[in-house]
Amino acid sequence: MFRNFKMVSRVVFGRGCFDQLDDILAEKRSEDDSFIVFLVDDVFKQSRLAKRISTKNKDFIIWVNVDDEPKTAYVDDLTRRVKGYSNRPPDGVVGIGGGSAMDLAKAVSLMLTNPGSAADYQGWDLIKNPAVYHVGVPTLSGTGAEVSRTTVLSGPEKKLGINSDHTVFDQIVLDPELVAGAPADQRFYTGMDTYIHCVESLNGTYLNAFSKAYGEKALELCREVFLDGGDDSDDKLMMASYCGGMSIAYSQVGICHALSYGLSFVLGLHHGIGNCIVFDYLDEYYPDGVNEFRRMADKHAVCLPRNIVADVEKDQLEKMVDVALVLEPLWENALGAGWKEIMTRDKIKKLYRRM
Ligand code: NAD
Ligand code: ZN
Repeated sequence: MFRNFKMVSRVVFGRGCFDQLDDILAEKRSEDDSFIVFLVDDVFKQSRLAKRISTKNKDFIIWVNVDDEPKTAYVDDLTRRVKGYSNRPPDGVVGIGGGSAMDLAKAVSLMLTNPGSAADYQGWDLIKNPAVYHVGVPTLSGTGAEVSRTTVLSGPEKKLGINSDHTVFDQIVLDPELVAGAPADQRFYTGMDTYIHCVESLNGTYLNAFSKAYGEKALELCREVFLDGGDDSDDKLMMASYCGGMSIAYSQVGICHALSYGLSFVLGLHHGIGNCIVFDYLDEYYPDGVNEFRRMADKHAVCLPRNIVADVEKDQLEKMVDVALVLEPLWENALGAGWKEIMTRDKIKKLYRRM
């Protein structure tokens, strides 16, 4: 069976298009006393962007903190706050921020219509009811979270997404001006998420013409952005993220992502930087990609943290391996059906210990 996957239904792209959000939401407002929830990264609390969010009287802005990447408990807490705010559901949920804030918005919109805890739905196609209408407004480019059918969450047991057709945004607002203020190192780490997605998808056993078309385009854009530079880099990186996300929709990521999930579950590292730390040790699996990645990091004077695993406790290391091994499709994509013979626990531990 071929997957019949859901895509984002509406996309607006262009410098300054954020100002159209008001009109877009107006169409979804049902009555005078209905409301929209805005989940906005609290890094923007005092910013010009905050003043540009045009709220109507009953709208509810929640400043979300993403110092820690999204946890199921935080999603449950946010969902409770929205339910406590009004006895009717909102007409929409809007996430404004990087991958973390967008994932929070996706998860809250799902949990408003599905009972229980977000942790109950970590996995594939466990969501029963359609989400509340939800909109993603990225302020960092690279995760592909704006187009993907998952919201990545750390739960009590594991770091695993809520993967479902209902997770996909109904609308995304791609305004390259919003990413202009991001710190250079963060921009690099998140941008490399796309680059690594593409290397993993293009070198994977799941590769097909659909993934290849998007993956090659995203890779080309990443090269233009991180090796050449130029005035329209933010626009290009935004489209690289979009294409990178589309590429993995019909394939999978690989070893770097599997290991980086384990690393960030135990050490709390954010996804972008975690990927960069791991990727630098994967020459054996992705030699060309790793070489080019190093040239990009040099060009941007990025200094990766080292020796972060050397001193972790034994049981922490075991947990990292457990988390990485849950992600079977990633390993199978990278190494083929016989991956279990190639990637033993011992081999994974050796890789981790070098980081
Ligand atoms: P992020 O959202 O975690 O943000 C990183 C930091 O940058 C935060 O401190 C944030 O406040 C700050 N920030 C965001 N935008 C900014 C801006 N314009 N100016 C200044 N600071 C800004 O970073 P990310 O790399 O975009 O996202 C990583 C998250 O995305 C992880 O939680 C990861 O699990 C998730 N992710 C999801 C998917 C998916 O398909 N759903 C895919 C990959 C990653
Ligand atoms: Zn990623």
